[in-house]
Amino acid sequence: MTQRLILLAVLAIPAALPAQADSTVPDPILQLVARLDLERYKATIKGLTRFGDRRQGTDRNRAAVDWIEAQLRSYGCSDVARLKYTYQPPAPRVRTDSAAPAPPARDTTRASGGGRYRGVRARTGVNADSLKQPDAHVRALDAQASTPGAREEVYCTKIGDTHPDEMYIVGAHMDGIGWGEAANDDGSGTALVMELARVLSSPDVRTDRSIRFILWNNEESGLNGSRAYVEQRRALQGTKDEPKWLGMIQHDMMLFDHGMPRADGSLAIEQRPEADVNIEFQASAKFAAEAQQLAWVFQRANEKYATDYPASVGSHMTNTDSAPFQDDVPAISLRENERGTQIGAGWDPNWHQPTDLYSTYNDKDFRLGLNAAQTTLAALADLVGASIK
Ligand SMILES: [Zn+2]
Repeated sequence: MTQRLILLAVLAIPAALPAQADSTVPDPILQLVARLDLERYKATIKGLTRFGDRRQGTDRNRAAVDWIEAQLRSYGCSDVARLKYTYQPPAPRVRTDSAAPAPPARDTTRASGGGRYRGVRARTGVNADSLKQPDAHVRALDAQASTPGAREEVYCTKIGDTHPDEMYIVGAHMDGIGWGEAANDDGSGTALVMELARVLSSPDVRTDRSIRFILWNNEESGLNGSRAYVEQRRALQGTKDEPKWLGMIQHDMMLFDHGMPRADGSLAIEQRPEADVNIEFQASAKFAAEAQQLAWVFQRANEKYATDYPASVGSHMTNTDSAPFQDDVPAISLRENERGTQIGAGWDPNWHQPTDLYSTYNDKDFRLGLNAAQTTLAALADLVGASIK
């Protein structure tokens, strides 16, 4: 209970983002947000797609982890480490006896995470057919199959000046599936976290508290990389080996909000003008109240600092790397759409498909991801007490 009260106190600091009291003093958050740039964000996504879909347990996945680490070091986020774990895929399910009783009928209006489907739904699924990728170069890049065994995921940490032993964890998953380039899922979130690491690791930026930037592996196989982190490091909190966790913020699919599928299952070609960043917490989590409070900190930061697209808060965070943290610490995720009721209803036709390529998206799509980056950077800068020397 004490820890939860402390967390509430920490979260309560930015209950209202300070009004511009003295307009002659430059707002450091505004200055930091201005260091994000659409072309840089796009270039980082493009860099990740050079490794194809980065499927876990392959050479292209390991090469991508190495490249991400080199990038983080080049940004000056020099406190770099890797979490190591072993991944064994579950045994294939044995078909049940046909004489077994049929499972109870599912309520088909219930979405994953607790939401309720509305309106038109289109088909979703994971493409496992290499021949559905028409580009021979991408098909060749994605050809090597995954093998079970040792895995690594990379992180770097910006050390706080006054409370180095307390940190926010900012994440995205770098692995993908579907025989494309995993440009949106989740090159877009990975690039966002890398860009934040770049801005906040600048030598002229200082913070009170620490921030860990982590690029999860094995998300697509069942959140195995983030689960391994929680299992290995939860009990170390407060020791010299692991700062205390103040919150976990996940980014997963940041680009595409073209609205609900039409009656024929097709989608609008262009980003809808009403596109928004969806900030979700999980209402059933142990830390739901604190996570909700954290979500509203992000919504207010968006309102004040994001240049183009607004943010909405929802209560059904699900199927992403913040979930393993949600009963230990306030955890939220940022996305292009709600994961359960919208992405789950076919609002992103490129999800786990061969069309999840860099070339599929245009600047209106990339700009939604940039607005999510502005949102997290602004909220985080406030939460950790960032300033420019
Ligand atoms: Zn994802």
